[in-house]
Amino acid sequence: MEKIYVNTGSRPYYIYIIENNWEPLITALSSCVKSKKFFVICDENVYPLYYPTLDKLLTKHEYEHNVVVIPPGESSKSLECANYLYTEALNAHLDRQSTIIALGGGVVGDISGFIAATYMRGIGFIQIPTTLLAQIDSSIGGKVAVNHPAAKNIIGSFYQPNLVYINVNTLNTLPKREFVGGMAELIKYGYIWDIEFLNWIEKNIDSILSLNTNTLIHAIRRACEIKSHIVERDEKEEGLRVILNFGHTIGHAIEAATNYKTYIHGEAIALGMVYEAKLANRLSLIEQTYVYRLIQLLEKCSLPTKLSGIDSSLLIDKMSLDKKNRGGNIIFILPTGAGAVDLYTDIDNTLLHEVLST
Ligand code: ADP
Ligand code: ZN
Repeated sequence: MEKIYVNTGSRPYYIYIIENNWEPLITALSSCVKSKKFFVICDENVYPLYYPTLDKLLTKHEYEHNVVVIPPGESSKSLECANYLYTEALNAHLDRQSTIIALGGGVVGDISGFIAATYMRGIGFIQIPTTLLAQIDSSIGGKVAVNHPAAKNIIGSFYQPNLVYINVNTLNTLPKREFVGGMAELIKYGYIWDIEFLNWIEKNIDSILSLNTNTLIHAIRRACEIKSHIVERDEKEEGLRVILNFGHTIGHAIEAATNYKTYIHGEAIALGMVYEAKLANRLSLIEQTYVYRLIQLLEKCSLPTKLSGIDSSLLIDKMSLDKKNRGGNIIFILPTGAGAVDLYTDIDNTLLHEVLST
């Protein structure tokens, strides 16, 4: 078992990383919740896989609990779904001392956190992430949100959980495509922060992709450490935290330009990292070998590395709508060397067109 302390100013908490064991959850819960009343939110896919075990465990320890199941997928991150969850929370008589448990991937984590942050102005919140993406990224750092029909993640807040409980063996049932999508964010940590970690990922890639438990624990632990370290220093994305967006300026534009249908998030981020690296190379920030190395590792994971059929003007239009932009300038987090990135704002449009067309 690994335990990481996340010392955010608004609320410090622990991340547990466990190999197929739910018992430590009870000890962890007893030291971070205000009452024995819980409200579990999960989606239809995760419910039959992991709720029965959680249900049994909470029952055994006489923790009062209700469960609400929502449809899987991004469409559940809506105000309509939030409203349904508020009603269910009221029906279950959740009070200020109660705790919401998000059992699932990033979608369930984001909307559950949004409910926890707003119901009665904020109640307890536990994350039990079951996708690689949620385990290494979205469950840590307190970003909670729902979508507006016109913009993703536009209604939300920063609301730190009381606990993140990662059982790495839940990844055994995750569809391969979803797992590999999470790999893009794992690789991102190496590139933005820790070249040693990147070397380690490259060396152990076969073991990671075959879901070897010990390798997974090491990978997830290091990713969680890096993310925690960054959000501890900049909880509300006013400075350092923006580096987590490497690959995301172009990645988000790719997702928007394809109506969120062609690529899952991690696939779009893989493409985004490749094209942002190409851009950095054209600006002489990094060598060509850096770009090749990135492409090679992403390809090893069967992630996409070449854009095709998306007009560069459409991508640039989408980038200009990014909520990270400042004063009308598109923001890029570009690699500047081994395990290092920096923020750039004044990228020439012609160069951008050229890079996106290669
Ligand atoms: P993400 O974590 O990438 O944001 P989602 O929350 O949408 O994504 O989860 C991706 C898909 O994987 C959803 O269909 C969800 O129901 C499913 N899922 C989540 N965790 C598991 C798991 N451990 N095993 C099988 N399917 C899972
Ligand atoms: Zn991302």
